Amino acid sequence: MTFDVINPATEEVVRSVPHTTLDETDAAIAKAHRAFGSWRAVAPGDRARLLRRFAELVDAHNEELARLEVENSGHTIGNARWEAGNVRDVLQYYAAAPERLFGKQIPVAGGLDVTFHEPLGVVGVIVPWNFPMPIAGWGFAPALAAGNTVVLKPAELTPLTAIRLGELAREAGIPQDVFQVLPGKGSVVGNRFVTHPLVRKVVFTGSTGVGKHVMAGCADQVKRVTLELGGKSANIVFADSDLEQAAATAPYGVFDNAGQDCCARSRILVQESVYDRFMELLEPAVKGVKVGTPGDEATEMGPLISAAHLGKVASYVPDDAPVAFRGTAPDGPGFWFPPTVLTPGYDDRTVTEEIFGPVVVVLRFTDEDDAVRIANDSEYGLSGSIWTRDVGRAIRVSRAVEAGNLSVNSHSSVRYWTPFGGVKQSGLGRELGPDALDAFTELKNVFIAT
Ligand code: NAD
Repeated sequence: MTFDVINPATEEVVRSVPHTTLDETDAAIAKAHRAFGSWRAVAPGDRARLLRRFAELVDAHNEELARLEVENSGHTIGNARWEAGNVRDVLQYYAAAPERLFGKQIPVAGGLDVTFHEPLGVVGVIVPWNFPMPIAGWGFAPALAAGNTVVLKPAELTPLTAIRLGELAREAGIPQDVFQVLPGKGSVVGNRFVTHPLVRKVVFTGSTGVGKHVMAGCADQVKRVTLELGGKSANIVFADSDLEQAAATAPYGVFDNAGQDCCARSRILVQESVYDRFMELLEPAVKGVKVGTPGDEATEMGPLISAAHLGKVASYVPDDAPVAFRGTAPDGPGFWFPPTVLTPGYDDRTVTEEIFGPVVVVLRFTDEDDAVRIANDSEYGLSGSIWTRDVGRAIRVSRAVEAGNLSVNSHSSVRYWTPFGGVKQSGLGRELGPDALDAFTELKNVFIAT
């Protein structure tokens, strides 16, 4: 069976990609299992060199990978270059790990006690369509560095850059069975990662609904699992903030990648006393977002990923929706939706559900406690922003908001050297940063009698 990959900006078929069958998935997992013994035995310095070589090749192919993502996913060229660069950086960062996977020596009576970080075996990485390159890299780079072998399933809609990264890994000298990319269906390939006993860990990024299914499936074998799921993050704007800056940047905190970002600040909470002024400032900022051909250097927002997703996003903005104002979007072919600002009631489904498109709600709050209460009134807890000039308030609110990644006076969530992940139903476990290796190793204690 094959799957037609569609360019979301033109609706043209880019390429037809064969889907991995269940038997082929099993064969790939068996090969990855056989390769594990030799990969974990590669000397730390050699494993590091292979990962650095892989990083160099990703860097040398940055423009090619970026153009492929523009074509497959409709990402703006600026974003796509950053995404390929992120894979390079994550590989380089974790290339330092094989030589630094330190255990401890713990004082004991009658002997020597040491700990080891042992690799797990075959790791299955399941990737969504919204950031095909970075999310793949956050899984495979630390997993390989720690001595695991990897089977990776890209999303059905966006397999092209993952396939290319698999080729570059081989070119770098990473053995074919150590890192295999298996394009295919979630219900076939992804589900097999969950049920196959030789896959020792699943790294899943995607919707909360599928994530719960993956977690329940992993429980059957007490399989290790990391989950990066949905979000409905708050952008809290206090009256004492730099209001001009908060309003100018708010659109980019939610409409980046056409809102198809788990960290999208899709609820803007504004203190009542400055609400009207904030909305006056927000309107030109939203109307100024440049929506158009993703390959053009000046474009700031491209199309949605698919016709089906466009239909889902549009269902949140019916004709009688409380639209405050909207930006623009091209006519003609492509899955376009303009940046849209809504002012609904607090319990509207646009306030509680992840829309995953360029739609933001603006809500009022009275004081600090009220802001924290509204921000936390969500089943999700991934990201968020706090705008204030009061340092004490910035720290108090950062501690009080239930989310894994917060930024003060900015909209930054992802740095490859700091931890990333969600609380509540936004996920389980952390990726990136110095601690991610713990998620790809088991701690073993050995006592040697003297
Ligand atoms: P999705 O859950 O539909 O699919 C994600 C991946 O899971 C795909 O590769 C899919 O094929 C696979 N899959 C589907 N059914 C499966 C099954 N039964 N078993 C195993 N795998 C299966 O999500 P999506 O629509 O591709 O991505 C959007 C979602 O991802 C949003 O909710 C977004 O918030 C979330 N996301 C979260 C993060 C994060 O880091 N927290 C990052 C990006 C995206």
